[in-house]
Amino acid sequence: MTQPLEQSASAPFSFDNSYARLPQNFFARQTPSSAAEPWLIKLNEPLAQELGLDIEVLRRDGAAIFSGNLVPEGADPLAMAYAGHQFGNFVPQLGDGRAILLGEVIDKNGRRRDIQLKGAGATPFSRRGDGRAALGPVLREYIVSEAMHALGVPATRALAAVSTGQPVYREQILPGAVFTRVAASHIRVGTFQFFAARGDTDGIRALADYVIDRHYPDLRDGANPYIALLEAIAERQAALIAKWLHVGFIHGVMNTDNMTVSGETIDFGPCAFMDAYDPGTVFSSIDQNGRYAYASQPGIGQWNLARLGETLLPLIDADQDKAVEIANVVIKDYGERFQLHWMRGMREKIGLADVEDDDLSLIQSLLSTMQAGQADFTLTFRRLSYLAAEDGAEAEDAFLTTFSDSTAAKEWLARWRERLTRETTSAAERSVAMLGVNPAFIPRNHRIEQAIAAAVEDADFSLFEALLDVLSRPYEDHAELTAYMQPPKPEERVLQTFCGT
Ligand code: AMP
Ligand code: MG
Repeated sequence: MTQPLEQSASAPFSFDNSYARLPQNFFARQTPSSAAEPWLIKLNEPLAQELGLDIEVLRRDGAAIFSGNLVPEGADPLAMAYAGHQFGNFVPQLGDGRAILLGEVIDKNGRRRDIQLKGAGATPFSRRGDGRAALGPVLREYIVSEAMHALGVPATRALAAVSTGQPVYREQILPGAVFTRVAASHIRVGTFQFFAARGDTDGIRALADYVIDRHYPDLRDGANPYIALLEAIAERQAALIAKWLHVGFIHGVMNTDNMTVSGETIDFGPCAFMDAYDPGTVFSSIDQNGRYAYASQPGIGQWNLARLGETLLPLIDADQDKAVEIANVVIKDYGERFQLHWMRGMREKIGLADVEDDDLSLIQSLLSTMQAGQADFTLTFRRLSYLAAEDGAEAEDAFLTTFSDSTAAKEWLARWRERLTRETTSAAERSVAMLGVNPAFIPRNHRIEQAIAAAVEDADFSLFEALLDVLSRPYEDHAELTAYMQPPKPEERVLQTFCGT
């Protein structure tokens, strides 16, 4: 006999909910709405394992739990309050309008992680939204966040996807779904802005202390922990955005409410990976002025950090002029931090272990040759890595055919080879290192669209599963998977991506 779910001993999580212990104005308690006919599309078992969850229970009750129908024991569901600059315009209250934090667990490595349902119904922050999510964006976030993780880019993770069996009403009627997200925390620059907008210095202090304890405990006993906090967040963002650029990622909506203080990529709305290299690339349908274009991301990171810095001023120094002066140094230094991370990664991408003055010019020359030759970003670096492994005519041809005109690419190769003659590492070491940083597989937009279309139109999740499998090992070559390396054919090209809210 099966037990009714409400009575099953469902305690797959050992929750310890520290955010719920913060002052009342930090959040609104909110029970998830129910779903009509929940069905578990996917449970990320390796991640569940890492989080120390009871997998047997999740296999059995996952549809109920991850749809919001069954609130597991120990959860204290809530919607977080936050504000944010959206495309430069300040909105004093946003908040979790379609997300509900179930609670926090301590994972097997001792790290505190949030478990959040996205699309489980309206909250006090929903404004005119329904608090629901459509299947397409749920699958997109699942695929891209797991791909980012496998690529080595800090990102929130996908624990589960559930179909609700209920329609959601957008421009069309779409199947509904709930995404379960795992994050180091969901605290954003916009969370600080929420309190600053209300002149609530106690709130800012409570939040800053909480963030220090949770993400930067080493700063607690320093001379000025709040300026150190701004610096530490700037460092993680510099490292993160450099990584985005190294893999050709475009976030698409880098609003201050979509930038974490933990240094994880969050809110994969209209995000996309670039195929042909063009620093001006924009996919997001809502980014009409290209504010968040590929190459604009480092600068926007700095703009967002400046907004964070403003909220911290009252904590940094009692003398506000002095506080501004101190904070400005950190914001300015972010530029150099970013440049260091970016340069280190670009050196690795072209196989340089040693440092020479002309390296930046060598890298820039490759990038401009790629842009002029409409070379696929990912394939260019992967093929260069093959060339480092085996310097033969075949590998060279493969590299050159990535460019529409091979003359400039050939000249660049000569320059690169000349530079390599002064490297102290061996060719064998170099090729291994390059293959480990230049992925073969990225979540190409056309592949994501194909997987979503099959799921939404035919309830066929096989492409979604296959894509997840390929993307879980992005640096490994598999002869049978070479089709997944290919850029889109002209008719497959995706020119625009949507938030899907
Ligand atoms: P995002 O696009 O995820 O950055 O969301 C921006 C803001 O809109 C956040 O406050 C979301 O909670 C809210 N939002 C987005 N979609 C919905 C929805 N379907 N229902 C309610 N609120 C939403
Ligand atoms: Mg958001």
